[in-house]
Amino acid sequence: MTPLKRNWLRKEPPKSNPEPDLFKKLKGEITVIRKQGEPPLKDPHSFAQYICDLCSSPRPITGQRQCVVCGRWACSDCWKDEYYTCKSCAGIIKINSIPPK
Ligand SMILES: [Zn+2]
Ligand SMILES: [Zn+2]
Repeated sequence: MTPLKRNWLRKEPPKSNPEPDLFKKLKGEITVIRKQGEPPLKDPHSFAQYICDLCSSPRPITGQRQCVVCGRWACSDCWKDEYYTCKSCAGIIKINSIPPK
């Protein structure tokens, strides 16, 4: 085996993409509230509105997104585009991530 080939075979730790490990860690820390694909709670008082799982305010379905980590439905106020999760999970991700500096 040439040194070149050994170098090529050596597994480098992924630097730019820490997601799989982080995701595993998060799964241990965050309680899954809803399964992926489970619909949000319907607001019993208004038609075609759904309850945000974080702030409990009724919102139209178009303004809500399901968090990929905990499965909660979050309105635009409770959503973090930065991580594509609800703001609760985004806070936990922030704590677990290495600061980008
Ligand atoms: Zn909300
Ligand atoms: Zn979440």
